[in-house]
Amino acid sequence: MVLRLLALSPLAFVFACAASQPPAPPPQASATPVEPPPAPVVAAPAAPGPITVDVFTAPDEASAVNSYLVQNDRELIVVDGQMVVPAAQGLVEKIKATKKAPKAFFLTHAHPDHYFGFHALQQAFPGAPVYATAGVKAEFDGAAKGTLEPMKGMLGAAAPTDIAKVTLLEGALELGGEKLEVIELNGGEHSVSAIVRIPSIKAVLAGDHLYASVRNWMKVCDGKTWIGHLEEWKKGDAATTYYPGHGAARGGADLLDANIACIQGFEAEVAKAKGKDEAALVADAMKLALAKFPTHRAPQFLDWTMADYLKCSRPAKGGKAAAPAKSAAPVKLAARAKK
Ligand SMILES: [Zn+2]
Repeated sequence: MVLRLLALSPLAFVFACAASQPPAPPPQASATPVEPPPAPVVAAPAAPGPITVDVFTAPDEASAVNSYLVQNDRELIVVDGQMVVPAAQGLVEKIKATKKAPKAFFLTHAHPDHYFGFHALQQAFPGAPVYATAGVKAEFDGAAKGTLEPMKGMLGAAAPTDIAKVTLLEGALELGGEKLEVIELNGGEHSVSAIVRIPSIKAVLAGDHLYASVRNWMKVCDGKTWIGHLEEWKKGDAATTYYPGHGAARGGADLLDANIACIQGFEAEVAKAKGKDEAALVADAMKLALAKFPTHRAPQFLDWTMADYLKCSRPAKGGKAAAPAKSAAPVKLAARAKK
């Protein structure tokens, strides 16, 4: 019994008491407020890359028409849509290679060599409208359907099966936040047409107001207004690169002088043509024009336009020369460019 009492010694009692103590209270919260964790840093979206211009040129038998791919690293706009379906299909492949769906197409003027291909392009990229300025759209809407059947006779299976729908462009085209200025011109190469200025790269997509070693289309015989437009660009436009509607993809201001020389050279040579009847006159004028610029491409443009040019540039016996369509004073591109 004594032994059992010894076993319950004070030491053992102390241990027992210690085991029954309540747990220590948790440490007091610090009086200093705890800083919330920093918010995750969200990077601002990177600015789009610079605008570049790439070209698709049709073969000479399809009139060496240029379509331009205006793009940055995210978006793409295609200017002008080719004439024949095989060329339009080639353009579709070039667009697909960019891995971008076009946000828009743009038509510079209502000539079939620039709009026929839009039907195939719209089938390939149905989300992209074909834009045109008010004057170009009005002419397109009035005339384009009517050009389909006559051109089918000339182009055969290469002609489109239908005509694209064109949407009115209100304001400017836009790419990556940059406004691409669209300027409508009256008279010159055609009754109404539009050019596109890209300020950040000092470029002008000139439509058919410029040709690069390709026969200038003189059908409306409005060389005076045409040269007037080009002279205005020379005076003050900030552009350093010009993209023509046909032929080599780009040029500097020398392309403006080259086109002025071509228009003047054509008019001067054809003025020398003689012939006892219309057929002989056309044949003589063709010979003179071909000899003046023997290396220029797309001689079919002479075949398609010479008779009309002679009619409107020369007074008929006892009458006046036919007036060119909607000739107007040149637009002061230089002044607009300085805004
Ligand atoms: Zn053209």
